[in-house]
Amino acid sequence: MFDSLSEKLQNVFMRLRGKGRVTEADVNEAVREVRLALLEADVSLPVVRDFIGRIREKALGVEVLESLQPWQQVIDIVYKEMVALLGQQQAPLNVASTPPTIVMLCGLQGTGKTTLAAKLGTFLKKQGHRPLLVACDIYRPAAIKQLQVLGEQAELPVYALPEDQRKGPPTIARMAVEYARQHANDFVILDTAGRLAIDDELMDELGQMRAFVQPHEVILVVDAMVGQDAVNFAEQFHKRLALTGFVMTKLDGDTRGGAALSIRAVTGVPIKFIGTGEKLDAFEPFYPDRMAQRILG
Ligand code: GDP
Repeated sequence: MFDSLSEKLQNVFMRLRGKGRVTEADVNEAVREVRLALLEADVSLPVVRDFIGRIREKALGVEVLESLQPWQQVIDIVYKEMVALLGQQQAPLNVASTPPTIVMLCGLQGTGKTTLAAKLGTFLKKQGHRPLLVACDIYRPAAIKQLQVLGEQAELPVYALPEDQRKGPPTIARMAVEYARQHANDFVILDTAGRLAIDDELMDELGQMRAFVQPHEVILVVDAMVGQDAVNFAEQFHKRLALTGFVMTKLDGDTRGGAALSIRAVTGVPIKFIGTGEKLDAFEPFYPDRMAQRILG
């Protein structure tokens, strides 16, 4: 995860660490190299610009603290700014005051949405909850089957209508919420349809579903491998659906990390969880400080 970015940033600091006193020229050089590493990792340009601006300002403004090596201070500044960029604190799920809590998952096809429904269900079940998975993707029968298979694996109930009773996804969502109320399911996880690209029809349908069931969470599932485009998709979904959170999937892959680093800053919406593999337990809450540590070593 972020191997290349991490290696580059660690090299910058290692090289400069040996220098002893920090001069303004040293800070400028470090900042230039950090900037380059972030751009190469596909972090969006305005985000890099802001981030670097803050680091430069703070690094050149610091009084040298006696307890720390000067370079350690610069590294600390970068670390703190990176934690801030990633959202500062872990953002928990919004939970309904009266169950069920409704979580609507959306995203483009292939991002890992269906897998995520089962991962989140597994995570909640381990905490003693009774989640219900709901198949709202009526356009691809394979998607319904996939959710049923994953539900079986995770030993979680799956709500799906038989083919001859099929309704529109917003109606299915509403029926599922009613079903959850009657069966004491305290979480409803809606797996919605994805397309290969954003289109109006899909957005209208998702918007209607949002209005119908008023979910407590509207989460966009983002494939970290997609790079800069992921940030554009995120902005468009947020504009139409007022997202409450993101999940970054496939962070186990060879991602350059740019989307994960940009998305919170660009949209203001927190990353709530990350997916780190195909298995159902390859899923964890997102901690900005841990991620910054992983990147900066
Ligand atoms: P959907 O079309 O958005 O519902 O995506 P799927 O849930 O069907 O996932 C698409 C592919 O990505 C499947 O082969 C999943 O096993 C895989 N996948 C999902 N999440 C992750 C992840 O975090 N890491 C990796 N490596 N693969 C994942």
